Amino acid sequence: MANVTLACQFCGTLNRIDLSRYHARPKCGECGKPFLLDRPVKVEEEHFDTTVLKAEVPVLVDFYADWCGPCRMMAPILDEIAQEKAGKMLVAKVDTDRAPNLGMRYGIRSIPFFARFEKGKMVKNVVGAVGREGLKDLAA
Ligand SMILES: [Zn+2]
Repeated sequence: MANVTLACQFCGTLNRIDLSRYHARPKCGECGKPFLLDRPVKVEEEHFDTTVLKAEVPVLVDFYADWCGPCRMMAPILDEIAQEKAGKMLVAKVDTDRAPNLGMRYGIRSIPFFARFEKGKMVKNVVGAVGREGLKDLAA
């Protein structure tokens, strides 16, 4: 099973999506716009538990901020991983400026902060512009 509950990036409606069928381009049940699942998905703090903690696949979360240079350096690597792991893993991006409670919950003191979640728990994390090699374990 590879079900994940994702908020539509266009209308905000939560949709339950089978990631293993990503190539069939699932659409939002409300507005009909497609979910683009071979790229990182932005997750708002209010949906974090539903999307990340309840996902049936491992989730690599990039906690970033728009003003953070090292975060921007890492962004293309996250894009690559999302493409390679499409259907098997979710790559999520959380804007830390909009997620103060998650920052506290996971003890995020500096960004970029990358974390792998499995079955609702953070199992691994790494901090900084670590390059592709530095994300190897998290994206395995
Ligand atoms: Zn929608």
